Amino acid sequence: MIKKIDHIGIAVRSLDEAVSYYEKALGLKCEHREEVASQKVRTAFFSVGEVHIELLEPTDPESPIAKFLEKNPAGGVHHLAFGSDNVEAQLEQATGAGVKLIHDKPFDGAGGKLVAFLHPKFTFGVLTEFCMPKPEGCCCSCKH
Ligand code: ZN
Repeated sequence: MIKKIDHIGIAVRSLDEAVSYYEKALGLKCEHREEVASQKVRTAFFSVGEVHIELLEPTDPESPIAKFLEKNPAGGVHHLAFGSDNVEAQLEQATGAGVKLIHDKPFDGAGGKLVAFLHPKFTFGVLTEFCMPKPEGCCCSCKH
């Protein structure tokens, strides 16, 4: 079940410049920085109430964020992430409703979370992520 909007992902060309804007112009504080190998990005997180802002800078031309920036040179809102208590069940529900997935299985995202994306062709143009904290003692999306 979807519990909340967990974060809004924003593609940026320069993480340092964007962090500076969010800190100096908006007065928010960067809480966490992390490189996410699976997505070829560096990230920085801010909290706005219970919702996080995830800034994403590509580390490789093959990164999905690099491709997004080719189409949107100024950067911009990249994805909306719903916090769920069961990402696999969300994917089953979505595929049952005819929505295609970008990946078949949840994978390791930023912040030690399991994440999965729906294909934006089926989501009215909004790249949609589901995320949940990784279950304790589990290194993957298996049910053990
Ligand atoms: Zn995200």
